[in-house]
Amino acid sequence: MDENKLVSDFNTETEQAFRTAWHSEKGGDENWNRLLESYGVSPLSPAEKEMLINSEMKISRGAFPIELRRVYEKIIDKHRLGASSSEKLNNALNSFDMESKVLEYYQKIKPFSGMSDIFKNAGTGTQKYSSGLQKEKQHTFKCKNCGAPRLEEMQYDNCLFCGSILFEKT
Ligand SMILES: [Zn+2]
Repeated sequence: MDENKLVSDFNTETEQAFRTAWHSEKGGDENWNRLLESYGVSPLSPAEKEMLINSEMKISRGAFPIELRRVYEKIIDKHRLGASSSEKLNNALNSFDMESKVLEYYQKIKPFSGMSDIFKNAGTGTQKYSSGLQKEKQHTFKCKNCGAPRLEEMQYDNCLFCGSILFEKT
């Protein structure tokens, strides 16, 4: 098969996942769950979602970044199968920077990302923001990628918000 086609198929598929996550209702919706299912990815449990919704990592829309990461991983695995015969595809897969791709998505779903959001939330934003900062200081571990504090309510290794393994002591 044409190597460029292999690469563009891979790109199309990751973009499709990105768009579906982004167009999803806050925390996921039916359409997003269908996509997860088609890749054999389990969504976060309702308890995990509730914990994230109530955490400092506010989102204004879209599925949770960690779920998009899991889909990206599946897409990469799938295309790896064809990569042995194509150097171009192999390069595309290897240069897919998971941490920054997930972070790029988070930038799009977090509140206050645009001017209209800033004005809309002007009344309540500042107070929430500063109380959020104070709370943050009590946490020992923070995700190096997205900045999410490690939630102490439960045990887990990867960042529950973005799925990164890059927790660091602050
Ligand atoms: Zn994270």
